[in-house]
Amino acid sequence: MRVGLGHDTHRLGEGRPLLVGGVRVPHPRGLVGHSDADVVLHAVTDALLGAAGLGDIGDAYPDTDPAYKDADSRLFLAETLLRLNQHGWGVVNLDVTVFAQEPKLGPHKDAIRRSLAELLGVEVGAVNVKAKTGEKVGHIGRAEAIACQAVVLIDRIGPV
Ligand SMILES: [Zn+2]
Repeated sequence: MRVGLGHDTHRLGEGRPLLVGGVRVPHPRGLVGHSDADVVLHAVTDALLGAAGLGDIGDAYPDTDPAYKDADSRLFLAETLLRLNQHGWGVVNLDVTVFAQEPKLGPHKDAIRRSLAELLGVEVGAVNVKAKTGEKVGHIGRAEAIACQAVVLIDRIGPV
């Protein structure tokens, strides 16, 4: 068994869709980044790469590569999961905390949880999503950015 940790932050800006864990959340502002800037999928992808000892999302998907401009981050997660499977690893469980002052993500936690379970090919019970505000302080609390922390446990599903 191995454990992996992922963390990501993206700035909120006008004229962008807000994608959180593969779920489109209605909001006047979205996350700014080279790809679709799905902060949760990036943190989860990094957690998976970390658990398997495969580096980080910046190594795998450089933000200088035009191929990843506005890329669907679900592809990053799907490809990374495939790489883990090829290395003989499967996901045991995932725990995610999203930090957002705006919009309030509480009403979307269940949809995000189901989306992540589907993307990872695990039961919904193996995924947990927590939503926290920034307590009105710092870049999260001023609603300038959304951040995410993810922890994943992986285990052997077959020979290396
Ligand atoms: Zn990111």
